[in-house]
Amino acid sequence: MKSGLFDLSGKVAIVTGGNGGIGLGMARGLAEAGADIAVVGRNEDKSIAAVADLQTRGAKAISVIADVTDRAAVADMVKRVGRELGRVDILVNNAGINIRKPPHTLDIDEWDRVIKTNLTSAFLCSQAVYPAMKAAGGGKIINIGSMMSIFGASFAPAYAASKGGIVQFTRSCAVAWAADNIQANAVLPGWIDTDLTRRAREEINGLHDRVIARTPTARWGNIVDFAGIAVFLSSAASDFVTGTAIPVDGGFSIMG
Ligand code: NDP
Repeated sequence: MKSGLFDLSGKVAIVTGGNGGIGLGMARGLAEAGADIAVVGRNEDKSIAAVADLQTRGAKAISVIADVTDRAAVADMVKRVGRELGRVDILVNNAGINIRKPPHTLDIDEWDRVIKTNLTSAFLCSQAVYPAMKAAGGGKIINIGSMMSIFGASFAPAYAASKGGIVQFTRSCAVAWAADNIQANAVLPGWIDTDLTRRAREEINGLHDRVIARTPTARWGNIVDFAGIAVFLSSAASDFVTGTAIPVDGGFSIMG
């Protein structure tokens, strides 16, 4: 898909959690549109496999092993991307976890871990790439929310708080950095078949069928469903789109 408005040739993207799941689905889309990719994660084996996968799609790709909750590691990660790939045009804040417990049994350490991984990491990474994007005359930031950015769930107090927060953080960056030609948008996935939800399907009785019954398109999403939105929000095609939160959910959030 390397033509005109959607061409990402010469662009460099950082994708946190790009070594699997939705992050890899987005990284593949960006690679096929011409971008070079830095995959950021903690698991070395998954990251090596993802880099090999992206290279087969024509991208220059590197793996940066980093914990995105660690401010110093994030700063080093951005420096390394600048050194090895030359620039930073696109940041996808996708790394995320959930700890499924109701509010009355969630431990403070568990709360902190979810908030730091899902929300604080987006702040750290966005702040770290801002100087390079400003100096380059623009950039694109894509933050991954969730249906829990909109709805609540008994088993997701910290997760829903982090995903609601990511939408408001996105809006703040969009306003703050509009004058720098940086667009910041959020993507809200519905129920997508990944490692994260495979565990949920095992733990929550009947979840698989309930999701299908509630989703107008009557299926779970796949990671390939995230290639198009990633390319759109990273390309010139979205230069007048900022501060939005776009569901990619097969209609889950509009089902009456
Ligand atoms: P996965 O578990 O497949 O991916 C999560 C990714 O985050 C992994 O690549 C993991 O890499 C990375 N990660 C987690 N913690 C850290 C950390 N501290 N530092 C660096 N990387 C980290 O899940 P999904 O693909 O499903 O989730 C991706 C995003 O999409 C998350 O933000 C999730 O909340 C969101 N989402 C997913 C939905 C779904 O239905 N699947 C629905 C709505 C939102 P590593 O293992 O190497 O640490």
